[in-house]
Amino acid sequence: MKPKLSLCWIRRDLRLADHRALFEACCVSQSVAVVFVYDTTILEKLKDKNDRRMTFINKSLQLVDQKLRDKGSALITLYGDPCEEIPLLATRLSVEAVFCNRDYEPSAKERDKIVADLLQSKGIAFHSYKDQVVFEGLDIATKTGNSFRVFTPYKRAWLEKLAIEDIRIFRPNLKKLTPIKYLKATLVSRTLNDIGFQNAKIWLEAGEDAAQKRLTKFLKNIDNYEKIRDLPGEGGTSGLSVHLRFGTISIRSLVREAFKFKSKGSKAWLSELIWRDFYQMILDRFPNIVEHTFLPQYDQIKWPGSNAHFNAWKEGRTGYPLVDAAMRHFNATGWMHNRLRMVVASFLTKDLLVYWRRGEQYFAENLLDYDLAANNGGWQWCASTGCDAQPYFRIFNPVNQSKKFDPKGKFIRNNVPELAKFTDKRIHWPHGATIEEQKKALCMMGKDYPRPIVDHSLQRAKALQLFKSIKNNLVN
Ligand SMILES: Cc1cc2nc3c(=O)[nH]c(=O)nc-3n(C[C@H](O)[C@H](O)[C@H](O)COP(=O)(O)OP(=O)(O)OC[C@H]3O[C@@H](n4cnc5c(N)ncnc54)[C@H](O)[C@@H]3O)c2cc1C
Repeated sequence: MKPKLSLCWIRRDLRLADHRALFEACCVSQSVAVVFVYDTTILEKLKDKNDRRMTFINKSLQLVDQKLRDKGSALITLYGDPCEEIPLLATRLSVEAVFCNRDYEPSAKERDKIVADLLQSKGIAFHSYKDQVVFEGLDIATKTGNSFRVFTPYKRAWLEKLAIEDIRIFRPNLKKLTPIKYLKATLVSRTLNDIGFQNAKIWLEAGEDAAQKRLTKFLKNIDNYEKIRDLPGEGGTSGLSVHLRFGTISIRSLVREAFKFKSKGSKAWLSELIWRDFYQMILDRFPNIVEHTFLPQYDQIKWPGSNAHFNAWKEGRTGYPLVDAAMRHFNATGWMHNRLRMVVASFLTKDLLVYWRRGEQYFAENLLDYDLAANNGGWQWCASTGCDAQPYFRIFNPVNQSKKFDPKGKFIRNNVPELAKFTDKRIHWPHGATIEEQKKALCMMGKDYPRPIVDHSLQRAKALQLFKSIKNNLVN
């Protein structure tokens, strides 16, 4: 007799280990089939058919499929609108319930509501679980029961509330996986080409085993994290954001690991994981940040920056070496170090006075670890329009940032090779080099490397004026 089935619908949780929804499904069902839907409502918006994220997802899914096949089951992959595909599949397989992990993006919440309602109308249950974060929604609330808007007290409350149960391991009973013979009719093999994409080059391995390897490597050096995390040339961060984004590793497992170490480094790293929870909570509780600034008064700013400056920023030819190095590295890999994200976002908004949404969008299109919550949070922080943002009057000086965080110009040399022969001192601002020095470095300013497209101190004054005018408007 055919066993009674449940579906575990995976979305941004492309793994089998420590997986809450799969665990819950296996606990209560006789048999569990795992499904992923290539969501055409998202894919149709991706302009670049070489999108690196599609390669990462596709490879991770192949590995999930392989692990399922090792256990005698297989991954069902569908292509279409999940609001139609999931109810259709559920009916076709006569499943009793669909299990998934919660996603806090407004469009995902809407999708899940539609799917849940459709399933319910057919008598099929829909169960969703917290898995992507340690704490969600109002799990962490102020004394008055509201959401925190400032990180430090949120973090304090997060740490106070954390109990062993919050970071427990959810080990699914894989013996419950539906045998492949019951799934055969639903198994359609789909290559990236079949769904209109090409394999792109990605710099990191996909899948949960690769995520574990990366974690193990990072943990060897976690105690130094605090000292080197801000130095883009040193590779001192975990590089796990892509795995976290697609759920090839569980956030609980990272928090568990962080607690095994008692160093300043591990505490600083844990703090970053809490920032991740914080921004997910902000997106969940204040979804209007997708369309508006968190601080409503700054929606009024008319950013005067030009298209030409925006294009120079995108292409890494602003004449500011660290900014150019960061953008060129980003264009080549789809990844950027956190310090550099702050530097380039600050430069775009406060030096070029370009509307921050344009930068947010460029990152959204190209970041391999693109995550709406963290990206919007990061951009609004840098543009000084967000919750607990960088105050508008504290503006990064891109040359000082370069001297401080890439002191020997290692990152610049690797990514702006025409500057490689300048001395450690000159490389941060080669425009100050004499003609002789430029000749010696085989790099003439304005010919081999662009002259600065703006003057930092002038632009800084304009940025301050822009923000002050809003403040004055509010007072009047
Ligand atoms: C303008 C801007 C845009 C950003 N866009 C994204 C994005 O789209 N996706 C994304 O994952 N991160 C984003 N970040 C946050 C941060 O830059 C990356 O998470 C980090 O660089 C990833 O590298 P890592 O995995 O080596 O981080 P680690 O330093 O090893 O940190 C561990 C994990 O903590 C989380 N984390 C670290 N810093 C932050 C932060 N400031 N906010 C939220 N979570 C954090 C990430 O999940 C990260 O993988 C953005 C930051 C800025 C300033």
